[in-house]
Amino acid sequence: MKVLATRRFVGPAWDELRDVEIASLENPRDDVEVLVVANERVDDAVLGRFPRLRLVANFGVGYDQIDLAACARRAVTVTNTPGVLTEATADLTFALILAVRRRLGEGERLVRRGEWTWTWSRGFLADEVAGSGLGIVGMGRIGAAVARRAEGFGMRVSSTTSASTPEDLDDLLRTSDVVTLHVPLTDDTHALLDARRLALLRDGASLINTARGEIVDQDALVRELVSGRISAGLDVFIGEPNVPQELLGLDNVVLTPHIGSATLKAREAMTRLAVDNILALERGKPPLTPVT
Ligand code: NAP
Repeated sequence: MKVLATRRFVGPAWDELRDVEIASLENPRDDVEVLVVANERVDDAVLGRFPRLRLVANFGVGYDQIDLAACARRAVTVTNTPGVLTEATADLTFALILAVRRRLGEGERLVRRGEWTWTWSRGFLADEVAGSGLGIVGMGRIGAAVARRAEGFGMRVSSTTSASTPEDLDDLLRTSDVVTLHVPLTDDTHALLDARRLALLRDGASLINTARGEIVDQDALVRELVSGRISAGLDVFIGEPNVPQELLGLDNVVLTPHIGSATLKAREAMTRLAVDNILALERGKPPLTPVT
């Protein structure tokens, strides 16, 4: 079975694919039955270039860049890699929480610039994580894994789920010291945190986003961060790898390049799962982790 992958993925499982080619999705190919993609958009135009396509194996749990309706119309199965990146992404989320609340990036930059600052004055004092309130938006796999960490750190955890009302979310935003996003990007969650909702965040609150950039009104967030009213830890952005220029000089924001799942353990397990989905198709078995 001919597999086209947009890159070589890490881990021993990758070598179990016998007929795999690394290429972009730009050129039409009539022999390809499986695409392995990461963050590349797979829409009707892309699908049209691969008339024999049977499977899109997405390397990641979020599949918002794949047009599921177009895949269904063409009887193309879609799979993702849920679960195996949960702990890695929760770790990164917690690293951002600690980094933002304790002003880690700012302090680190001072030391590197030779501008060591004694922290006896009020100016460099940070916020304590223990005893603060963490609001988790989306209590799925990653949200729950962040909650487990937060309990160990003595944070008070509150959360919203897909059954929560808009008022529940507003309340969580008003009452939390740190808000962290763990919903998938869908039509319902697009700009879930719009300008009005961002304005509900307490003065001095922190927003952590390791989910998807589009879940927040990015322009409104930039305005809030430039004003210095809130702080943020951001792993995801609209239009990656572009990052709003205004953020680059700000000390109240910690920026990472979409590295939620970027541990060797998680990436090897993601490769294992993606390859197992492909092998299942080859053997006429149902996929392990289909996206419905
Ligand atoms: P998950 O287990 O499906 O959790 C998502 C949760 O959000 C579900 O419990 C879902 O509830 C809930 N939800 C949906 N809409 C909601 C709403 N409007 N308000 C509150 N809750 C809502 O997914 P996951 O494995 O935790 O992953 C979450 C997302 O993280 C992924 O979709 C992906 O975009 C992102 N991610 C990013 C990285 C990174 O590298 N930065 C890595 C991994 C994942 P229902 O099930 O009831 O709909």
